[in-house]
Amino acid sequence: MPKLNNMFTPSPIVAKALRAKAVYGHVGEIARGVELVLAKNPKYYTGPGTNTYLVGTDPVWIIDPGPDDPAHVNAVLAAVGERPVAGILVTHTHMDHSPAAVPIAQKTGAKIYGFGSLSEDILSLTDEEVDPDFKPDIALADGHLIGEADWQIMALHTPGHFPNHMAFFVPQKGILFSGDHVMGWSTTVVVPPLGNMAEYLSSLDKLERLGSHLMLPSHGLAVMDPAARICEVRQHRAMRQQQVEDCVAKGFTDPSVIVSEIYEDLAEGLVLAAEGCVAAHLEYVDIEKTGQSRTSLVAEQAPF
Ligand SMILES: [Zn+2]
Repeated sequence: MPKLNNMFTPSPIVAKALRAKAVYGHVGEIARGVELVLAKNPKYYTGPGTNTYLVGTDPVWIIDPGPDDPAHVNAVLAAVGERPVAGILVTHTHMDHSPAAVPIAQKTGAKIYGFGSLSEDILSLTDEEVDPDFKPDIALADGHLIGEADWQIMALHTPGHFPNHMAFFVPQKGILFSGDHVMGWSTTVVVPPLGNMAEYLSSLDKLERLGSHLMLPSHGLAVMDPAARICEVRQHRAMRQQQVEDCVAKGFTDPSVIVSEIYEDLAEGLVLAAEGCVAAHLEYVDIEKTGQSRTSLVAEQAPF
């Protein structure tokens, strides 16, 4: 079986190169009206770290407050300065995204916005690093519009990587904040039961339909051609799906066996994630056959 090249796998080599160039703390304005503060939390899945964005000028919105690291929280607050904060938007509740919302809200008085917390039943199904205490002040639904004028922001529910994942789109500027759904440096991890490949692909379609001009992910560099990147990611998932289905046709059904068949030069720390992604593709085979997913979860949304 031909092996896929590794340009989409979270490569430790790519991550290392990005970290070597990274400027941590307040990077400054990266697009008109958008400032970046980079958290120093580099790990396998975060590339150089988490991107926290300040959006708008006065007031500012904060997108993805990041990990609860005092140095990062202070850097965000210093970047905000005296400006009022309109709100704190959380893409999802992995530990590298949401925990700093609380200390930043305490200091600024801003409200926290997000899709909603996950029930204990759902949290008990995973050992992913999830923020168990997250509770938005204002629960967002798909298509919810917040803010006004040039910096009005549309919230989009985009499950697939995570059940309560939201992307944020600024229609007047054509800027899409894609969270972890589409990253700037590798493909994102889709691991059942909280990750779901069918949901991932339909959320990808939703992001594509926006026709954004600039995509700012929560990890990695800005994406100047969002349509091309979304297309690459979809093609990559289709190739993996085909590889997994070829393995199933040969009688392989164990994710660890399939990983050894189709991944090349996989870093040891990524083996479990790769097995999880293969499990997501195996589940997608079931959906194609039966129309049913074994583990699809509907995120519970906090009441308005
Ligand atoms: Zn995530």
